[in-house]
Amino acid sequence: MGILSEAIKRILERPATRKYPKEKPKIPEGFRGRIEWNPETCIFCMLCAINCPTNAITINKEKKEWSIDIGKCIFCGRCHDVCPTKPKSVSNSKKYELAEYEKEKFRLKFRKSERGG
Ligand code: SF4
Ligand code: SF4
Repeated sequence: MGILSEAIKRILERPATRKYPKEKPKIPEGFRGRIEWNPETCIFCMLCAINCPTNAITINKEKKEWSIDIGKCIFCGRCHDVCPTKPKSVSNSKKYELAEYEKEKFRLKFRKSERGG
């Protein structure tokens, strides 16, 4: 194939890249995005915090508080795997646009009366 025909073929092809953020990607099943917590089902067993490899989760049982530092989270899904409730009280959402200018904004604290979404 000559150079000219190859160039024309490439020009007519769909681009391999996407015009993000205008064009959003399709999120696949099983994608591990930002962790979310469900206060309605959580029994404060501490297993998610104990098993988190980066110590991103902290729990205050007395105050019924559940906190996560998204800046520490590596999105491994271990907290979801070990959570004993049905349905799971902690799960990876499909949220992936997590950039912040201040690192304090990565530290999220929720109480039993709130939803960790
Ligand atoms: S996804 Fe992994 S790193 Fe993030 S909070 Fe859960 S266990 Fe910790
Ligand atoms: S493992 Fe599940 S039930 Fe236990 S504290 Fe974590 S979120 Fe709550």
